[in-house]
Amino acid sequence: MNDLHRRNPCRLPVLLLITLSTVVGLSIVWEFELEAWVMHWLALPYDADFEDAERWRFVLTVTGFSLISLIIPTILLRRLIANTRSSYLRLKQAQAQTETLATYDSLSGLINRRIFMDMVRNQLGLKRPAAVMLIDLDHFKAVNDQHGHAAGDIVLVEIARRLEAIADDNGGVAVRLGGDEFCLLFLTFKHQSELCQIAEAAVSRLGAPLSGAVEPSALGATIGIARSWTDAQDASALLHCADTAMYRGKEDGRSTYNFYDSQYEKQRRAQADLELALRRAVEADEIVPYFQPIVALPSQEVVGFEVLARWLKPDGSTAPPSDFIPVLERLGLIPSMTHSLIKQACRAANRWDDRLRLSMNVSASMVTDALFPDQLLEQLRQEQFAYHRFEVEITEEALVGNLDVARQNLSKLHDHGVTVALDDFGIGYSSLYHLTRLSIDKIKIDRSFFEPGQTDHLPMVEAILGMARSLKMQVTAEGVEEFHLPHLPSWLANSGCNYAQGYLYGRPKPASSLFCYTHSSFAQQAG
Ligand code: C2E
Ligand code: CA
Ligand code: CA
Repeated sequence: MNDLHRRNPCRLPVLLLITLSTVVGLSIVWEFELEAWVMHWLALPYDADFEDAERWRFVLTVTGFSLISLIIPTILLRRLIANTRSSYLRLKQAQAQTETLATYDSLSGLINRRIFMDMVRNQLGLKRPAAVMLIDLDHFKAVNDQHGHAAGDIVLVEIARRLEAIADDNGGVAVRLGGDEFCLLFLTFKHQSELCQIAEAAVSRLGAPLSGAVEPSALGATIGIARSWTDAQDASALLHCADTAMYRGKEDGRSTYNFYDSQYEKQRRAQADLELALRRAVEADEIVPYFQPIVALPSQEVVGFEVLARWLKPDGSTAPPSDFIPVLERLGLIPSMTHSLIKQACRAANRWDDRLRLSMNVSASMVTDALFPDQLLEQLRQEQFAYHRFEVEITEEALVGNLDVARQNLSKLHDHGVTVALDDFGIGYSSLYHLTRLSIDKIKIDRSFFEPGQTDHLPMVEAILGMARSLKMQVTAEGVEEFHLPHLPSWLANSGCNYAQGYLYGRPKPASSLFCYTHSSFAQQAG
C-alpha cells in the first residue's frame, strides 16, 4: 500500500498529459490531413475551402470536449482511489492494533493473560517444563486511593519495566495478568535454588523506591511459585497453585515468596469450608446458647446464668467456642451470632422465673461500636426482657482498643439498668484505671485463681475482694469445681465474694435441660 501511495500521484498527471497530446495530435492530423482523404475515400462531398481558423477551432473544440470528458472522470476516479486508500490504511492500522491488543497488555506493553495461558498450555502440551512466579503488588490499592489512578498507572508501568529486566536477566517472560497482578514465566527447568534467587531479587527490586510521584514506602510484592514438574501439569491448575502460594505470602506478612505446598492448600480449603459452614450456622441459628448457673453466696442459690455459645453441627456433634469464635471474629460475624444468641437466650429465660438473670459475653468489636448499646436495648425491648435482668461480660482487651467509645457505651447501658461485668479479672491488664473510670458493676475473678490444688493464689483473691469492696463492686468467683478446695464456697463467702460459678454448681447446659427453672418449678424449688 505504501508503494501505491508513492506512485499514483505522479502517474496520473503524466497519463493526462499523454492523453491530451494524443487528442490534440490526432485532431490536428484529422482536420488537416485525414478528413479530406477519408471523405474522398467514402465518396462523400467535401468542401476543401475551409479556413485555417475554422480548422483550429475544430481542433480546440475536440480538445476541449476531450478534456472535459477526461478531467471529470479523472477527478472522480482520484477521489475514489484516495478514499479506498485511506480506508485500506485504516483497516490495516485497526488490524495491527487488534493484534497488539490481543497479545500485549495496553498499559504496560507486557504479554497479556490470554497469550500467557496459550504459552503455558502449548509448553505443557509438549510435555516441556514451565515455572510460574505469580506476583501481586502489596498495598497497590493505597497508591490508587491516595494518589489517583493516573499515578497508579505510572507505578504499574514502572513495575512492568522492572519485571521485564528481571525476565531478560533470567531467560523468562514478563506478563501482566491484570490489575496489579503480574507474572514471570520460565519455559525451562530451573532448580529450586535458582528460582529462590530470582524470587528474592524480584521481591527486592519491586520493593525498591519508585521514581516519580509515589512515595517510596508504599509498595512491595508478594510472590507465589508453582512448577509444572512438581505441582500441576495443566495451565489453569499451575496458575492456581502459584496463586495459592502467593496467598500464603500475603498471610505471612507480604513482601515475601513461597513455593506451592499442597498441605497448606488442604488447610486453606478446610478453613474455607469451616468459614462457609459457620456463615450458614449463624444464619440458621445453629449456634445456640448453653447456660451455666451462677449462684449467690453464701446461700448458693441460682440467681442467673452465663450464656455460653455452642455450635450444634449438622452431623450432631457440639463444638466449643474456641473452635468458632475466632473465625467468626475474623469474618465480622460476631454481632450476628450475638444477636441470635440473645434472641434464643431471652426466649428461653422468659419461660423461667423472672428473678433469674442472664449474662452475655460481648466481644471487643461490639463494645467499641457506637451503635451497640442502642441495638442491644432495642433487642431486649423487642424480646420483652427486662433490662435489669441482663448483664454484659466484657474483657479488658475490649477497652484498650477505643476507650472513649467503650466508656460511653457502658455508661449508657448502665444508665438503662443493664449491668456490666469485667470478665477474666486478674490475668491480663487488671487495670485500676478501667475499674475506676468505667461503669463496671461486677468483677469476675478468673478461674485460674481456683485451679485444682492451688491455694497460694488465695491471698491475691482476698486482695481483689478487698479492692472490689472499696470500689463498691460485686464479685463472682469463676471455675469453682467440685473436687478441690472443699471449703472454697464458704471461704469465698466469708471473704466477701458475692457470687460463684463453676462445675460445682453446674456445667453449661442447653435450655431444654433447664425445665426446673420454669416459673412454677423454680418457685417450688426455692420454697
Ligand atoms: P468465659 O467467658 O471465661 O467463660 C467461662 C468458661 O469457663 C466457659 O468455657 C465455661 O464452660 C468454663 N468453665 C465454667 N466453669 C468451669 C469450671 O469449674 N472449670 C473449668 N475448667 N472451666 C469452667 P467455654 O464455654 O468453652 O467458653 C470459653 C470462652 O469462650 C468464654 O470464656 C468466652 O470468652 C468465650 N465465649 C463463650 N461464649 C461466648 C459468646 O457468646 N460470645 C463471646 N464473645 N464469647 C464467648
Ligand atoms: Ca464470661
Ligand atoms: Ca471468664
